[in-house]
Amino acid sequence: MLELTSLKEILAYPRQIVITTHHKPDGDAIGSSLGLYNYLIQKGHHVKVITPSDYPVFLQWMPNNPEVIIYPEKSKDSDQLIAEADLIFCLDFNALSRINQLGERVRESAAKKVLIDHHLEPEDFDDYRYWSINACATAQLVYEFIVNIMEEPGLINKDVATCLYTGIMTDSGSFRFATTTPAVHYIAADLIARGAENSKIHELVYDNFSENRLRFLGYCLLNKLEVLTEFHTAMIVVSRHELQQFNITTGDTEGLVNYALTINGIRLAALIIERQDLVKLSLRSTGDFPANEICKKYFNGGGHRNAAGGQSGQSLRETVQKFKQILPEYKSLLIQ
Ligand code: 5GP
Ligand code: MN
Repeated sequence: MLELTSLKEILAYPRQIVITTHHKPDGDAIGSSLGLYNYLIQKGHHVKVITPSDYPVFLQWMPNNPEVIIYPEKSKDSDQLIAEADLIFCLDFNALSRINQLGERVRESAAKKVLIDHHLEPEDFDDYRYWSINACATAQLVYEFIVNIMEEPGLINKDVATCLYTGIMTDSGSFRFATTTPAVHYIAADLIARGAENSKIHELVYDNFSENRLRFLGYCLLNKLEVLTEFHTAMIVVSRHELQQFNITTGDTEGLVNYALTINGIRLAALIIERQDLVKLSLRSTGDFPANEICKKYFNGGGHRNAAGGQSGQSLRETVQKFKQILPEYKSLLIQ
């Protein structure tokens, strides 16, 4: 374990720092990573953000995005950076398996590891932890880390504010999920005051669809949505062939599952997608229905209570069948 005073001592001098975040980074993963990056470089540190995989174009505009290293594209250089780092910040994930091959490199590194995260039950791989499941986003925790822990609110400049605002906006469902407390709005207000252009950020993330993506959305809603009224559940199942047909790329399916949840009375929404080598599930729920429990118990995954994911090595058809067979077990919770 690392005491806060020791962490502050380490950060008082220029260091070699790596920031990493989860596989298929989302707005919070990139927003919190680049937010922290833009803070640390002001303190004279040598910082690299390394992601385990690529991420969508609608997240590639944040300040200093070109500095991000995508691990599979530069694995040798990344391995060296991780091995030689003094500090590694692990953002927005709770288990090293969430960062693929990077996980072992991080585990082996002699660097001190700082976890900043809001997922349940983090694995014990860190030396210092700033963690809360009550945070709406890891970006909220990065803000609190800079302001309350490091006591450097003055270093939240426009670049930091822009990235952190993006993380909070995306992970809170544009400030609508139950995790959006008064504190979240105060933080958002402060970030806007410090230069985050909220309206522009929203546009950059959400009004950035390709034509294909919008047509794919329409196709899914019209032809692929299945409502299981008895279980207050709605699902969308997409085959590999359909992904190819619409030329769907990284990030194009993000947000799709939320549409299924907008139907009146639906408590659980599922998006089941046949990817290259496995079938991926995304679950969303309302209230206290534990979507993460289904993912953990049956699909080798996890996540938050209302937003979770997992995978299956079975065929698409078998996976869908398995999902449907699980629903009776949760019927009493689903029909509440
Ligand atoms: P999404 O459905 O957007 O892919 O993921 C929603 C949330 O579920 C993520 O923020 C993450 O916490 C969790 N999640 C998604 N896929 C996995 C997985 O394969 N394993 C684990 N442990 N969590 C996942
Ligand atoms: Mn997050």
